[in-house]
Amino acid sequence: MELKNKKIETQLSHDNCKKYEGAVVPPIFQNSLFSFEDWEAVDRAFENPDKSFIYSRGKNPTVSIVEEKLAMLAGAEKAQLFPSGMAAISAAIMYCVNSGDHVISLKNLYGPSSNFLTNYLKPKFNVDTTFVQGNSIEDFEKAIKPNTSMIYLESPSTAVFSLQDIEAVSKLAKSKGIKTIIDNTWATPLYQKPLAMGIDIEIHSCSKYLGGHSDIVGGVLMGKAEIIDSIFKREYAWLGAKIAPIEAWLLLRSLRTLAVRMERHQYNALTVAEFLENHPKIKFVRFPGLKSFPQYDLGKKQMTGYSSLMSFQLNTDDIKKVKIFFNSLQLFHKGVSWGGFESMVYAPAIAYIKELNEKQFENMGISMSDIRISVGLENTDDLIDDLEFALNKI
Ligand SMILES: *Cc1c(COP(=O)(O)O)cnc(C)c1O
Repeated sequence: MELKNKKIETQLSHDNCKKYEGAVVPPIFQNSLFSFEDWEAVDRAFENPDKSFIYSRGKNPTVSIVEEKLAMLAGAEKAQLFPSGMAAISAAIMYCVNSGDHVISLKNLYGPSSNFLTNYLKPKFNVDTTFVQGNSIEDFEKAIKPNTSMIYLESPSTAVFSLQDIEAVSKLAKSKGIKTIIDNTWATPLYQKPLAMGIDIEIHSCSKYLGGHSDIVGGVLMGKAEIIDSIFKREYAWLGAKIAPIEAWLLLRSLRTLAVRMERHQYNALTVAEFLENHPKIKFVRFPGLKSFPQYDLGKKQMTGYSSLMSFQLNTDDIKKVKIFFNSLQLFHKGVSWGGFESMVYAPAIAYIKELNEKQFENMGISMSDIRISVGLENTDDLIDDLEFALNKI
């Protein structure tokens, strides 16, 4: 049976059992090295390191099974797993840029990605980054310099959920010979297909929805074979950040339920967002699935669904009240990260209050009364009760 011709839910659910004695779940190949019949066999493996199992810092069968599944899901020729989203992101960026190059990215980029560009590549390799708003194609056009080698996107961004017109940006980049990367973690490869829109490298933190059970940290890069093979031979092999077979295996477990989980995440998030939007103690909600979202039409054009991370502003400037709201939530776990089965709440002010002044806060498009929630798979009645309870405390 050819899985390739089946619908995506079917492809995600099934593995080739015949290969593994009929086991419906493939085994974990927990070995560091592989042995060979003879000199010639070793020689053949060395000739094709990206297709051969030699040593688990390179290819590992468990990892390869998951990479093939992810590539299928994203419509990519190839995928490369990494031990974290940041390992994937730094490898992808280093593939795209040389010292002295110029990069264009977003003001509201995921913090560590932004820091890698600003506080690492700039001082060490003189790679300059222009951070743009990214809501219009002119933002990118104006920022292009003769030495621009990469445009790095995140749509929707996970700070303020702003979108970029992916097709327009990739077209512009292609016309100038600029490589494009997108962090597609929010939408998942199920609901947004950036490679089909012309993007060169699609990145995910597998620690979010792809993992979904809050028990793995991982990352993946996807794109044309030529690009992924080059990253495998250089950034993956030489920087040596490899994913453990057990983590890859847990990710395979998670992918089987991705489609059902996302359906529920989306339903729960929309229900909660609509409740929040209509509540008098809430100024506004940022969620691309709401009709009131400023870029709703662009979202509809380039995504086929929504996930469940959103933020909102409480109708108060009093940080004491923001704290009371936060601490009054009982069902929502308090902490960072998102995309798991459990609902989470985080307040950007917890970190920024120590680093930034009010003005810098505003420049990022957020305020002291911003709350970010990741809506999990619980019953929405319970989630809304919890939010209502905390809102009544302020
Ligand atoms: C979490 C996250 C990452 C980093 O992934 P890790 O697996 O934590 O290294 C990158 N991009 C976005 C948008 C994220 O939310």
